[in-house]
Amino acid sequence: MIFAANLKCNHTRESFREYAEILNSNLDQNENVLVFPPFSAYEKTDYKFKLGAQNFYPCESGAFTGEIGKAMLDELGIRTVLIGHSERREILNESEEFLKVKFEFAAKNGWDIIYCVGENLATNEANKTKEFLKNQLNNIDLSYENLCIAYEPIWAIGTGKSASGEQIEEILNFIANLTKAPLLYGGSVNAKNIGQIAKISSCNGVLVGTASWDAYNFLNLIKEAK
Ligand code: PEP
Repeated sequence: MIFAANLKCNHTRESFREYAEILNSNLDQNENVLVFPPFSAYEKTDYKFKLGAQNFYPCESGAFTGEIGKAMLDELGIRTVLIGHSERREILNESEEFLKVKFEFAAKNGWDIIYCVGENLATNEANKTKEFLKNQLNNIDLSYENLCIAYEPIWAIGTGKSASGEQIEEILNFIANLTKAPLLYGGSVNAKNIGQIAKISSCNGVLVGTASWDAYNFLNLIKEAK
């Protein structure tokens, strides 16, 4: 199972050092753990987990104020990126067109991509989730070999209200008909509900926000998944 931690805009360089040390001393070498810290916390160090980028600008380098390009990720050896997170879609106004450009740039470089999709509450309540997700997924090459899709219903992100096991299974099965890429679920995953989520056969892992910000909480979640 893949365990991806999205630290979002949490952890300073100093607190991330501590966080990484706790994971390093408690994770098995063969665990498939990915951590996406804020850029300011990055260090060129060996970890027992893989380091990913929450964001990047689709450029080598250049006049893009406030952005991070391939040259900076290369220097840190980062080849795993998140694209399409709902917070970037909604708060930072990243459009389908821009996400396509980011996807194509990342794919051209052979990076591992976790591509996030998910519907809001109104779409969910109108029973339009599958149609909506199909449109989002039509934006990218679903046969890209280093792709992972994260289904993250917006109404479940950071709300403490995860989708039910049945809802997750139905949607992941639907996505599995469209792509052979591994599938993650994200949205209020925690140590209490991971056991049920881990049993879903089409679920290859989880993308965790809140419950990953404390290293011991995240380790506990990984332990409970087993
Ligand atoms: C996320 O932001 O990707 C996420 C799943 O957050 P949370 O676990 O807090 O719902």
